[in-house]
Amino acid sequence: MAFKTEPYDVVVIGAGPAGLTAALYAARSNLETLVLEKEVPGGQIATTNDIENYPGFRTVSGPELAETMEKHARAFGARIEFTVVEGLEMAEGELKRIRTSDGDVLARTVIIASGSEPRKLGVPGEDRLRGRGVSYCATCDGAFFQDKVCVVVGGGDSALQEGNYLTRFASRVIVVHRRDRLRASEAQQAKARANPKMEFLFNHVVEEILGEQRVTGVRVRDVVTGERREIACDGVFPYVGLKPNSDFLPPEIERDELGRVVTDERMRTALPGVFAAGDIRPKEIRQITTAVSDGTVAAMEAEAYLATRAVASRG
Ligand code: NAP
Repeated sequence: MAFKTEPYDVVVIGAGPAGLTAALYAARSNLETLVLEKEVPGGQIATTNDIENYPGFRTVSGPELAETMEKHARAFGARIEFTVVEGLEMAEGELKRIRTSDGDVLARTVIIASGSEPRKLGVPGEDRLRGRGVSYCATCDGAFFQDKVCVVVGGGDSALQEGNYLTRFASRVIVVHRRDRLRASEAQQAKARANPKMEFLFNHVVEEILGEQRVTGVRVRDVVTGERREIACDGVFPYVGLKPNSDFLPPEIERDELGRVVTDERMRTALPGVFAAGDIRPKEIRQITTAVSDGTVAAMEAEAYLATRAVASRG
């Protein structure tokens, strides 16, 4: 694949809910819009099973919602290309150059919607047994754990949502959480508590994932007593938060201590004409609806930025 040499009006990096919404708005405003995605459209929802809190859909699977959003953006003329973004820099004039594994793309405006990926536990056995019982995607791998015992690590919405999903297959799901109370929303907690296959081990951390060819258990430590013990299990699903995909960005784009891109409420970054939307930003509430909201604002602000440039170049 080779990109055209003329600049796009808007290049969106990432095809999750924030990026696809930005693309929809930009393309619908007749801006020439290109979306760059490294994997599959949908971002995190592509690996989420049941979504119950996206308005207009009582229950929808993540992949189905992702496909609907993708088709919607394409219907207004947005192009989506699959490539890895490796860098972003200023080019001649006010243009931006996006370096990808398939060549460079020029853009008048850029919307960074590259989201985040699951954080690792960082314990022995985690990398070695990945794909052999260690998984970060219950939706993708849950069916391999029919009548098996799974450990889910974490106390947030993802841990409980994905743990609940795993109980469709697994005989037991043990949620290991480092504190004595969960971080997840009350709705997720109520669902988990009502599920007879879900158990909780509070005040414990996983110190090691055990097994030679496949996972056979985890070694946990009680953070109150310091006592260590082993729990036999077949699968380990870490859900201990998210790491922003921001490594490809230049130092001129301000990031916080966790690597998230700092914007103002109009989604503007420190570089004029570069916006950010969705999970790549620091924020308290991370929902599909808030990502979609960011994408809307970023696209409309990109359009406003381009309009001022058009006036300037005519004058
Ligand atoms: P999260 O809310 O950041 O929760 C991460 C969990 O992992 C926390 O319970 C945290 O413990 C624990 N943790 C972090 N580092 C750890 C470590 N090294 N060892 C052991 N435990 C560790 O992440 P998330 O659940 O992936 O959710 C991310 C965002 O998406 C949240 O804003 C969430 O609300 C949202 N989300 C929403 C839904 C929904 O509405 N249905 C579904 C999924 C995600 P502490 O509690 O002690 O910090």
